[in-house]
Amino acid sequence: MSEIVVLDSIPFHLDAAELEARIHLPGGDAELRRAWESLLAKVTELGRPKAIYRDCTVDAVTGDSVIVEGVPLKSRVMVRQLGERRRLFAYCATCGVETAVLEGSPDPLEGFWLEELRLVLLRQAIAHLHREISRRYRIPKLAGMAPGSGDADVWPLSEQTRLFDQLFNGRVTDLIGVVLTDSLLMLPHKSSSGVLFAVEHDFATCQLCHRENCPNRRAPFDSGLWRKNRMDGHER
Ligand code: SF4
Repeated sequence: MSEIVVLDSIPFHLDAAELEARIHLPGGDAELRRAWESLLAKVTELGRPKAIYRDCTVDAVTGDSVIVEGVPLKSRVMVRQLGERRRLFAYCATCGVETAVLEGSPDPLEGFWLEELRLVLLRQAIAHLHREISRRYRIPKLAGMAPGSGDADVWPLSEQTRLFDQLFNGRVTDLIGVVLTDSLLMLPHKSSSGVLFAVEHDFATCQLCHRENCPNRRAPFDSGLWRKNRMDGHER
């Protein structure tokens, strides 16, 4: 079994102007601005986004599952997207637990700001992870899938335990602090886990997701791709 690689010194940049536009920080309120700038400075000081990954061999592919180092991952979409490739990378990335000490502000606005800042940390951790794998394994284009992302049957959320317990041998919490709760939520909330693999064409599970008005959508819904990947053949 290959080693788990830990990336725990991921550089990040919090662009104040971009973030202020994103959170709609009102101009002309000096007190609000001071509170925002203080939080931004603290997250910049404390933030430590991290990621782990494992280079995994695909042992076999069945009609609806990909067998990865003995662990079956049940997703017909993954079967289709992998095609003949026999390698994927299990991963978990997170904003890090270090900003937890900033929680508990009585002002809900500050709680919202903190989550927005953590989201930037997570995104930069994921971007760093992609660059690391692309560079190390000379893969020009990567795509990812995460349990629960996309329509419910694309890769069911329940498969999250296979990543945490089996592909990462129950070591995610020890290595980067991410906890998987009994209800399959990750803590910190701004964490992501799944698999990455080489692709020739861009692919995102958002293309297979009917959710409307999602603020995090990365690609428009693709009805043609959705039909091709349909598992049960029923139209919605
Ligand atoms: S559209 Fe939103 S909910 Fe759907 S897969 Fe993309 S990010 Fe997730």
